[in-house]
Amino acid sequence: MENQLPAVLCPYCHQPAQLVSSKEVYRRDYGPIYLCRPCEAWVGCHDGTFRPLGRLANAELREWKMKAHAAFDPIWEGLCNAEVRRVGPYSGLKHIIRNEAYRRLAERLGIKVGECHIGEFDVETCRRVVDICKQGLEVPLDHLRSKRGRRLLLPDQERR
Ligand SMILES: [Zn+2]
Repeated sequence: MENQLPAVLCPYCHQPAQLVSSKEVYRRDYGPIYLCRPCEAWVGCHDGTFRPLGRLANAELREWKMKAHAAFDPIWEGLCNAEVRRVGPYSGLKHIIRNEAYRRLAERLGIKVGECHIGEFDVETCRRVVDICKQGLEVPLDHLRSKRGRRLLLPDQERR
């Protein structure tokens, strides 16, 4: 029988990673992970699938990805909170603002927004994310607002 699982290679030793339970590296089972034991590198899967979330990360890269998220996430979360205070919560708000923040981050990194996933960054790119966010990542939202200036435009409203 043919193996339907994607061949996932460890980026450090270039050997195939093993699909195992996340209980092997965490106390709880968060679903399957791809693990390379010699490198102590792993990556989780997209919910309910065996598709890896990105590249396998070793301890150093895991730490830098956490630092990148810790620097970047409060920026868009803060914008969401400010928007909720301004006009109240509405559906799609978080999605729109987060997308816009990723778009600006991709611009600053000089990469395509479709490639702007912290989970797939290497240590060097994570370092740059931390630097950019510390310097201050500008995420202007005015061009997303409707003429009445009350709400951000939802994707299906942009055509009006
Ligand atoms: Zn390895």
